[in-house]
Amino acid sequence: MLHIPSGIIQDMITHARELAPHECCGILSGENQSVTETYRITNILATMSEQELYRFEGAKLSDLKHLSPEERADIAFQMDAREMAMAQRDIRSKERDLLGFYHSHTFSPARPSQTDITIAMEFESYRKKLNLPEPLHLIVSLEHTKSPDIRAYRIQDSKATEVLIKQIASE
Ligand SMILES: [Zn+2]
Repeated sequence: MLHIPSGIIQDMITHARELAPHECCGILSGENQSVTETYRITNILATMSEQELYRFEGAKLSDLKHLSPEERADIAFQMDAREMAMAQRDIRSKERDLLGFYHSHTFSPARPSQTDITIAMEFESYRKKLNLPEPLHLIVSLEHTKSPDIRAYRIQDSKATEVLIKQIASE
């Protein structure tokens, strides 16, 4: 079970709403499965032009080139690597752990897409070398605009298993 203060849940929903229809993304840190802080990270797919995307060669992006920027950002995200590194440095300096990643689904349920599973497995392939703990993957769904849904998953061996979120009162 992952414990998240209600204020942080609200922050993630606000972030998702600000970026809609694009997907937002970010990092969660804390200790012992209790989230204490979030880091908003730029979704570079949401800001890339067609030409930039064309040069951004990668098997996982090949299918995305045919989509409009809005469609693309709605089904996928790619965190800015420099911002991710800065967040990880800050997490280490505070002696906390990287507990998870979050991103939003503007029009679809809070379930990992095939692209999400592929991205998570790519991270798994180098995570152990970086000596990082296994992260959870959180999805904020705005499918039902008035009642956003947040769910967390473990993604291992290309399979997603839901992990319960317990909302705790913010101080
Ligand atoms: Zn997704």
